Amino acid sequence: MNKKTLAIDLGGTSAQLAVLEENYDIVHRWNVPTDPSDGGQYIVPNLIASIRDALDELSLEISDFHGIGMGAPGKVDNQSGRVEGAFNLGWDQPQELRQALQEVLDLPVQMDNDANVAALGEQWQGAGNREANIVMMTLGTGLGGGIVIHGRLYHGSGLVAGEIGHIPVFIHGGFLCTCGKKGCLETVASATGVVNLAKYRSQEQGLAEDFQKNLEKGRYTAKDVFAWAQDGDTFGQEVFQEYTDYLAWACGIIANTLNPSKIILGGGVALAGDFLLEAVREKVVHYMYPPTRESTQVVLAQLGDDAALYGAARLLLQSKE
Ligand SMILES: [Zn+2]
Repeated sequence: MNKKTLAIDLGGTSAQLAVLEENYDIVHRWNVPTDPSDGGQYIVPNLIASIRDALDELSLEISDFHGIGMGAPGKVDNQSGRVEGAFNLGWDQPQELRQALQEVLDLPVQMDNDANVAALGEQWQGAGNREANIVMMTLGTGLGGGIVIHGRLYHGSGLVAGEIGHIPVFIHGGFLCTCGKKGCLETVASATGVVNLAKYRSQEQGLAEDFQKNLEKGRYTAKDVFAWAQDGDTFGQEVFQEYTDYLAWACGIIANTLNPSKIILGGGVALAGDFLLEAVREKVVHYMYPPTRESTQVVLAQLGDDAALYGAARLLLQSKE
């Protein structure tokens, strides 16, 4: 008998949850705020309580579901369901997340890193068009990556494959990254990266002090800088060109290493749409090994926040194949 799927995308601010029908359409979705206080100890109990409330409201039973698919931040062991390094959830210790959910809800749970799950979702129901080999970059506050090879997520030998955001861009120096290194791609190609570049160039060019101060204080976002560029502002255009150079360069490295059919750009920065895509497409050819140009294409994500929900459901489905 076909059953429904429960999908969870656990994030630092909130968890998104969804019920997917037997045909994998999302039929109900809701949010639970993430409470990172006291070492994040309320997160799992809050999720469980919210799932029980939702099932009551929908007149569904646990037995109507064949399992839970889930994306979580940090290093996620997709075999054991252990989560490490999810500091934004207040979890400074490794968490046996799958065990905690399975024990109480009595359903099989499959989980993976959030950026991986988003990549799998786009491959399955979005821009990836169910093609076997795709790579996704999630351009948000950080820069997440996910690699799908032969239709399945690629984890590498230490479960940390796809950390595209930490590809070194500068051999020496560069901006400090959240990982403790300097000069990672994330420091120049995420939303934070746009602002880093703007700060750096405004200081270098000695632009008005007020403007520099506002940048320092985080009063301008990547969206603002892109808007200046679109309006024809010289400084905005310079930063936008530099930003898209780094992004195109990264796409070139991915194309030449893995030759995926699609490199999918998602996350908040990619909401700039064709304005971003056209610039990256124009530049990426310069970084691509010529035969790769015919078989690897850069495209925009299509599913927004739903990518992780679809990917989580897909994980569970694949575990049964
Ligand atoms: Zn880094």
